[in-house]
Amino acid sequence: MQPWIKVDKNSDFSIYNLPFGIFSESNQIKRVGIAIGENIIDLHAAYKLGVFKDLKFDISVLKSNHLNDFIALGKHITVKVRELIQSELCDENSVLKSHPSVFINQLTVTMHLPVKVGDYTDFYSSIEHATNIGTMFRDPDNALLPNWKYLPVGYHGRASSIIVSGNDVYRPKGQVVLEPNSPPTFQVSTRVDFELEMAFIIGKNSSLGNSVSTNDADDYIFGKVLFNDWSARDIQKWEYVPLGPFLAKSFASSMSAWVVTLEALEPFKVDGPSQEPVVLPYLSYKGSRNYDINLEVAIQPESCIETIVSHSNFKYMYWNMNQQLAHHTVNGCNLNVGDLMASGTISGKNPNSYGSMLELSWAGTKPVELIEGGTRKFIKDDDTVIMRGYCQNGKIRVGFGNVISKLLKAK
Ligand code: CA
Repeated sequence: MQPWIKVDKNSDFSIYNLPFGIFSESNQIKRVGIAIGENIIDLHAAYKLGVFKDLKFDISVLKSNHLNDFIALGKHITVKVRELIQSELCDENSVLKSHPSVFINQLTVTMHLPVKVGDYTDFYSSIEHATNIGTMFRDPDNALLPNWKYLPVGYHGRASSIIVSGNDVYRPKGQVVLEPNSPPTFQVSTRVDFELEMAFIIGKNSSLGNSVSTNDADDYIFGKVLFNDWSARDIQKWEYVPLGPFLAKSFASSMSAWVVTLEALEPFKVDGPSQEPVVLPYLSYKGSRNYDINLEVAIQPESCIETIVSHSNFKYMYWNMNQQLAHHTVNGCNLNVGDLMASGTISGKNPNSYGSMLELSWAGTKPVELIEGGTRKFIKDDDTVIMRGYCQNGKIRVGFGNVISKLLKAK
């Protein structure tokens, strides 16, 4: 495919990608856009030019605060919208080419949270991450709990504090135990961490009482984003028994602004790790269900250059999205458009592929050296954490842009 619009070969937003997002210009009206190279295509304007005339849907879904109503049209519409834009961008006679005002430079807009997240679920699906945590806090010879290889462990997170890339996060306060077997003190967290994750957005409702099979899961997944699940390790350590994380996680999670569709990721499917013991029948699946997505995390101290502290890959995930969705709904729990399901921290085998400072600094025992700005065991005030992700297959590049947020001093 060769677009007539100029796209840098290293751009995340190639003709093969065309992710969806919500943007506004100075007039503040939020609209649905597709990213191409350095630009955004205003889909509301493209609709008015007749690009989608053969698809029957209401134009109002393209002038909206979130993608939810657009996504809810269903893949029979949304997939075609993306394909029509793709063919217009490769057609020298396209009506888009004669209407340059449909294209808006990304540097001139504000990006907004792409979806209104109803429910947020966070899994714990990287075997390397779960093993590292189990080794640090329990028993190195028995790092995984007995259930881990039988089901994708997860918990229900907090949706209200999910923010889009570019917004800052305040250091949280809470109960922290400073000495073993001592009562807690109330203070600012001194162990604020990132978690390198990806998340998928639900694109289709399911009804209460029904389950979604691993085979049908793709129909329910609209697309994926990068996700930084901010965590306060000292608060977490005290509060998480017996019901799991609570305030240590709910203060903020940052997501990237562009939702990359499952269709754009199709060329990057790869086999996942073999699963032993064999999973229960409802978790078995056919075909390649992992995705080869290069991931990296950088820390940029105030007024310093950044240091990349982790190189990981989404393909390392032990439990894939189809299994996560099948497990999530096997009890009859229903899905809603806009629900967000995060992978859990994505760590690889090598220490430079660990997806959190907790692992990179091995619970603060091995400080991470930065190019500028000293060393880090955890994240300091005014550090900016940057996550990036992209797939590359020969000349085909499909990327997620980035998710950037700065940690501010506690309020
Ligand atoms: Ca997490």
